[in-house]
Amino acid sequence: MAQLCCVNADCADVGKQNKGNLSVRTGKGGGRWRVLRCSTCRTEFSERKGTALFNTTMEPSRIEAVAACPKEGRGIRKTARLTGASKCGVTAIAMRLGLHAKVVRDQRVRDLSIKEAQLDEKWPFVGCKQKNCDPLDPADDAPITGDRGDQWDHTALDVDSRMVVSLVVGKLTQDNLEKIVADFAARSGGSPPS
Ligand SMILES: [Zn+2]
Repeated sequence: MAQLCCVNADCADVGKQNKGNLSVRTGKGGGRWRVLRCSTCRTEFSERKGTALFNTTMEPSRIEAVAACPKEGRGIRKTARLTGASKCGVTAIAMRLGLHAKVVRDQRVRDLSIKEAQLDEKWPFVGCKQKNCDPLDPADDAPITGDRGDQWDHTALDVDSRMVVSLVVGKLTQDNLEKIVADFAARSGGSPPS
């Protein structure tokens, strides 16, 4: 219970832990997850609301197994084969976890003091390589904004911890380079000094 908090955006205690405002609703229901009641705003919600796994039906142990695969470099097909999940299930969980991690990272990776930074870019592609894109296809023909073709991962790392402080995905453009420098500067207070 110590890690839980009210998720009602209109509540005075939203997001605050250990305020003593939450209790477990007893009586009706009996679903898989506990229903919590907030005494401050008097709303009730599933203990999973606001988490990456809210409204998922996959077994938690299988979700954990799926989540562990990307760091081993396993793709969707291999993950599905190893965990027994469907390819759609793997994709859905990866999307959920990725989007949730993005929000959490955005909230928490701030006010850093960094001694040494490393900015880099990695080249992957989406759909096809840029040279194979069809200039007559609207999805392919935009070298600056198109979704297909070359898509670079621009990363800014804290060298000591190897944490990815900033990430910008997109074409290799001046605009994206400026974006990652600005994002890194905002999270590190301008450290290390230039
Ligand atoms: Zn509340």
